This record gives sequence, structure tokens and C-alpha cells, in this order.
Amino acid sequence: MSEQQDKNQSEADRIAAEKALRHKARQQKVKQAVDARVAEATEERGVLMVITGDGKGKSTAGFGTVARAVGHGQKAAVVQFIKGNWECGERNLLEGAGVPFAVMATGFTWETQDKAADTAAALATWEQAEQFLADENTDLVLLDELTYMVSYHYLPLERVVEALNSRPLHQHVIITGRNCHRELVELADTVSEVGCVKHAFNSGIKAQPGFDY
Ligand code: ATP
Ligand code: MG
Repeated sequence: MSEQQDKNQSEADRIAAEKALRHKARQQKVKQAVDARVAEATEERGVLMVITGDGKGKSTAGFGTVARAVGHGQKAAVVQFIKGNWECGERNLLEGAGVPFAVMATGFTWETQDKAADTAAALATWEQAEQFLADENTDLVLLDELTYMVSYHYLPLERVVEALNSRPLHQHVIITGRNCHRELVELADTVSEVGCVKHAFNSGIKAQPGFDY
């Protein structure tokens, strides 16, 4: 190596070492900030979560959390307020793992178009939800597609709020569905909105078992 090449190499090494030091200092700052926030989050209690929005992934995320809880040996329960005409893969799996399901007997509400029957079915299903929400031994309740029941007045908001507020302190609840009522969003501790960037259905790809239900 010539003297000039040597000089260039040591200059490059010096710049790289400086960069590494700056990176380390930045990361230390980030770590300090994260550690401080972790130290501040000391409260342990049940979380009310809403997963809403027009994109695909709301129920999937709810069921993912049920699987997570079951994996920790916790007790979870699922209430499905709108059930299509297809089998539910998660139900097939989770009932086998001891997760109780309460499923609204009617199909899609916009298919039945019978308000009185739908309201009665919603109320009957909500009564089962209330039992889970009152059970000290239930760690997580998934209220799948509950938002529609409230938005379309099949269930009185006050009754839903009352059961959510009276639940055991440690119990987590997940509500899924589009158009979540503002008051439920306000009541929740965590709210995630799944946005639709694209959906395969709009390019003519049909709903498929194992991926969509
Ligand atoms: P998933 O159950 O797949 O997590 P989701 O709970 O977010 O979906 P829902 O509104 O409950 O969505 O709709 C359930 C069904 O409708 C699924 O088969 C899903 O693939 C489909 N779907 C969800 N979002 C869209 C969308 N933006 N356009 C078309 N179909 C959709
Ligand atoms: Mg859903």
C-alpha cells in the first residue's frame, strides 16, 4: 500500500469509528427514554381494546390475542355477533383448547333483514357475553363484531358500557368491528384502526378457508 493509500484508509477508519460512537450515543439516549417509560408503566389491570377500521385483520388480531392468552394457560372466551354461513377456523381450533364460544344464531344481519328477530338474537347473545364479563376466572373476552350491534341499535349502548365497567379488574376485553361507537372508543384503553390499502376481494379473489375465515 502506498503512503497515500495508507492515509486514506486511516481517515476512513476514523470516520467509521466516529459514526459508530455517534450511533451508540443515540441508541443510549433512546434506551434511557424507553427504560424511563417502562419504569413509569407500573399499573397492572385489564385492558379494553377496540380494533376498528375498514381494512382486513380486525378479527384475526382478536383471535391472535386469544391464542396468546391460551398459550399462557389463561382462560379466554369468544362471543361472535355476526357469523357468516361458513365454518370458523379459529372456533374449530380454540374450542378444542377449551375456549367457550357464544355465537349469534342468525347469519349476516343485512341478509336476514328482520329487525325484531335480529334484536332478540343480539340480546340473547349479549346475555352470554355478560356472563363471561362477570366471570372472575375469565382473563380475556373477545367480543367479535360487537360494534355493529351498538351502531345499529340492536343493543343499548348503556347496557354494554355497564357490563364493561363492572367486569373484574384484571379482565381484558377486545371489541372488533367497523364504525365503532364514539363512546366505546372513548372508554377503551387501546384503540387500533386497521386501514384498507388494498383487499384481494376487490380484484376478484374470493374469501378462502384458512385465510379469510
Ligand atoms: P378478518 O376476519 O380477515 O381479520 P376483519 O375482521 O378485519 O377480517 P370484517 O369486516 O369482519 O374484517 O370482514 C370479514 C370478512 O370480510 C373477511 O373474509 C375479510 O377478508 C373480508 N374483508 C375485510 N375487510 C375487507 C375489505 N376492506 N374489502 C373486502 N373484504 C374485506
Ligand atoms: Mg371481523
